[in-house]
Amino acid sequence: MKLLVSACLLGIDCKYSGGNNLCADLLEALRRAGHILIPVCPEIYGGLSTPRPPAERRAGRVVTEAGTDVTAQYRKGAEAALRLYRLCGCEAALLKANSPSCGSGTIYDGSFSHVKIDGDGVTAQLLKEKGIPVYTEKDCGPLLG
Ligand code: SF4
Repeated sequence: MKLLVSACLLGIDCKYSGGNNLCADLLEALRRAGHILIPVCPEIYGGLSTPRPPAERRAGRVVTEAGTDVTAQYRKGAEAALRLYRLCGCEAALLKANSPSCGSGTIYDGSFSHVKIDGDGVTAQLLKEKGIPVYTEKDCGPLLG
């Protein structure tokens, strides 16, 4: 199936730090399962640079530790990810766990102290609202057969 995948999981250096979150074993397993991978980085698509200050969701917004509100960029990136998903005919999304954009089910709590809470990143939330199945690298067993 065609999967929309967080680009950082594929080894693209789009993470806030300038690095990536390559999951080589997962990538190989997805290839073996015959999936077609469509890379997306909502934060880049929202207009943010790399590297960039880390941000977390807090009280319905997305803010950096210094207090800069980047909610608009996160929303723009989520809309772009949804457009790409539809344009490419994807059937599910496989996104990076815990990210304020891509996280699904668990995200950081907005205190920048490594505390996780229940919740979704902005892009994962939008995709779910549209009925799209969202997995992370931690719970994607169903995609691997
Ligand atoms: Fe990875 Fe998503 Fe963050 Fe981009 S926005 S670096 S794809 S977790």
